[in-house]
Amino acid sequence: MNLDDLPIRDDLRGKTPYGAPQIDVPVRLNTNENPYPPSPELVADLAEAVRANAGELNRYPDRDAEALRADLAGYLGHGLSAAQVWAANGSNEVLQQILQAFGGHGRTALGFEPSYSMHPIITTGTSTEWVSASREEDFSLDPGKAVAAIEEHRPDIVFLASPNNPTGTAQPLAAIEAILAAAPGVVVVDEAYAEFAREGTPSALTLLPGHPRLIVTRTMSKAFAMAGTRLGYLAAHPAVIEALLLVRLPYHLSTLTQTAARVALRHRAELLGTVDALRRERDDTVTWLRSKGLAVADSDANFVLFGAFPDRRKVWEGLLAHGVLIREVGPPEWLRVSIGTSEEMAAFRAAMEGVL
Ligand SMILES: *Cc1c(COP(=O)(O)O)cnc(C)c1O
Repeated sequence: MNLDDLPIRDDLRGKTPYGAPQIDVPVRLNTNENPYPPSPELVADLAEAVRANAGELNRYPDRDAEALRADLAGYLGHGLSAAQVWAANGSNEVLQQILQAFGGHGRTALGFEPSYSMHPIITTGTSTEWVSASREEDFSLDPGKAVAAIEEHRPDIVFLASPNNPTGTAQPLAAIEAILAAAPGVVVVDEAYAEFAREGTPSALTLLPGHPRLIVTRTMSKAFAMAGTRLGYLAAHPAVIEALLLVRLPYHLSTLTQTAARVALRHRAELLGTVDALRRERDDTVTWLRSKGLAVADSDANFVLFGAFPDRRKVWEGLLAHGVLIREVGPPEWLRVSIGTSEEMAAFRAAMEGVL
């Protein structure tokens, strides 16, 4: 028997699972993780916190993750409280819960592509219809066209990744405000890479007062260097959180996850301490790629999209042959490299020299 013989949903037939190839090579620059592992002190603190909780693992976790949500609100600032924050296993689960509460059969979600491929996957996975609007040549959004697309399709959910993946493009608040004014449903600003934005790039969190249908999602997987913990979160009006409580599985966030995330938040000075170095490395990477005559998208994230290669697969394979794994994603002639340590970026540049 194989998959096709099973009585699965018709709309899942013929699909392939999401996932970047995980290939064991010396330099992995393909999934936008922070390359710096936690310090021995943080590891010791984590181990101690897990030990302290382990004696209660016969009990379910705090279903509403109250203490963690209060900590996350404190980290986000902007006067937010625990009632305006929600958390789940990665921001992908947060996004899925948003779709479960606000999308579904007969409803529509709209996004501006190229963008994060999980937005349409989670959308269609919840039987919500996906509508793709497009970005400009330079991957920015034209607010007038964005509003026109929203007025045409009247989506229940609008997705806007800022900084956008895989292009790195951050969106000015004026465009987000225009979208909020036009959108009949909820607007999700996916800020997975917010901490990497260049100085002076405001967060959509500043728009929460007065915009009760705005949802800003964040994650500990990227700048926070905790991808393995699986902790994503959002900030929104308290009524939005009430809506999510209707669809979340009870006890979705394990005691160990809540504990690890709270320890990480206590150590945020260390964890976010690498962000400046990564931004510098990113800016150097942009400059270097441009010096090679390549097209490079401006980036406010911890990755850089570059091209244009008539045969990008060949470049990707060439780099792999040099032990450097990047991501074949985005518009057809472009490639994306995540920002690693300075040693890893030196290896990337050397491999690129070999390939070009
Ligand atoms: C990586 C990423 C996420 C995050 O995922 P987690 O589930 O929190 O690991 C969300 N949105 C975008 C745009 C991303 O690139």
